[in-house]
Amino acid sequence: MTDSLFSASLSLSAVFAAVLTLGLMLKFWLGSRQIRHVAQHREAVPAAFSHTISLAAHQKAADYTLAKARLGLLEMALGAAVLLGWTLLGGLAALNQALTLFLGAGMAQQLALLVAFVVISGAIDLPLSWYQTFVLEQRFGFNKMSFRLWLADLLKSGLIGALIGLPIAALILWMMAATGSLWWLWAWLFWMGFNLLLLVIYPTLIAPLFNKFAPLEDETLRARVTGLMQRCGFSAKGLFVMDGSKRSAHANAYFTGFGAAKRVVFYDTLLAKLSAPEVDAVLAHELGHFKHKHIIKRIVSMFALSLAGFALLGYLARQVWFYTGLGVQPNLASSNDALALLLFMLALPVFSFFIAPLFAQVSRKHEFEADAYAVRQTSAQDLATALLKLYEDNASTLTPDPLYVRFYYSHPGASERLARMRGMAPTAA
Ligand SMILES: [Zn+2]
Repeated sequence: MTDSLFSASLSLSAVFAAVLTLGLMLKFWLGSRQIRHVAQHREAVPAAFSHTISLAAHQKAADYTLAKARLGLLEMALGAAVLLGWTLLGGLAALNQALTLFLGAGMAQQLALLVAFVVISGAIDLPLSWYQTFVLEQRFGFNKMSFRLWLADLLKSGLIGALIGLPIAALILWMMAATGSLWWLWAWLFWMGFNLLLLVIYPTLIAPLFNKFAPLEDETLRARVTGLMQRCGFSAKGLFVMDGSKRSAHANAYFTGFGAAKRVVFYDTLLAKLSAPEVDAVLAHELGHFKHKHIIKRIVSMFALSLAGFALLGYLARQVWFYTGLGVQPNLASSNDALALLLFMLALPVFSFFIAPLFAQVSRKHEFEADAYAVRQTSAQDLATALLKLYEDNASTLTPDPLYVRFYYSHPGASERLARMRGMAPTAA
């Protein structure tokens, strides 16, 4: 190594280790604040909810939040250890060398490196994922999955991931090698096209592989929902009920698809818990996201961010210090494209974590806007009771730590949301 290369790679290692440590400290501090705050408010229902939420429900939400937050701390520590293992401690370098010994240099080796990485990372995550479903969710009565279904899901998503992911990975690796110094622009265009295609085919082709979607049979509800959609200027290709209860007791509803292919999907768990006017209010909230163009805004900003990401990767992939600084000796005789992709995916979240609150902030603003739309189209009362039922059924805490909310929450806390709704005049346009 030349002296300047040596110092560039050393300073990347140092920056990476420092930023990772800083991020860990911040996450740990936020997590313990959340744990302390929720534990402190466990003994009494907040005054604003004392007539609507029982003490038992409030304490269940507190216990569930605490259990999740503690597991989150463990996951965080484990994730950082695994990340260090892959990078500075040489895991990725060793895997790359071993595969080069077996397969020689070339496309097969590069694809094998990606596959081996995904399989090993998946295997490392497996015990915690099992614990989350069969211990944590189970303890609070949310898990409805048998071990068999969990395993079938795992195999199915692995198979689909391989069927879709392998050709995509091969194509991107080919572009990196064959389309010159602007490969990242071509790869970005291709990646965006693929994502748009996925948005179109996911609801109709992939989601049905995991759940059953039956047309909404309830005539009264159909009429209500169709009326609401007409009033709001929407048409949908179908109203569906999804068997969410197959996996979890958590409830949800969503509105998906593009143009004429839009469909409304209600979880059976949602329909079982909410009255018809409440279902209306929840759907109106979803329609509000469309009316305010939140979906399009999200897609456009994802496009812009990934363009910046691909451009950065285009630059980094050509810098030797990028590899050596993250613990890998680049291949001298062959391509390093798969290594570059993996290192980039591993290192990026360490840095991007610090801008996460910006995205959470925008998301919470969108939620308020969608709530306001729902209140205008339906009623504040129905939306409020629907939200409270959902918060209660999902055991979401009513007393999160305010700073934790600012950093992580994509949805505002219940008290904030209800307070805003109460503040809205029913006739306001
Ligand atoms: Zn929303």
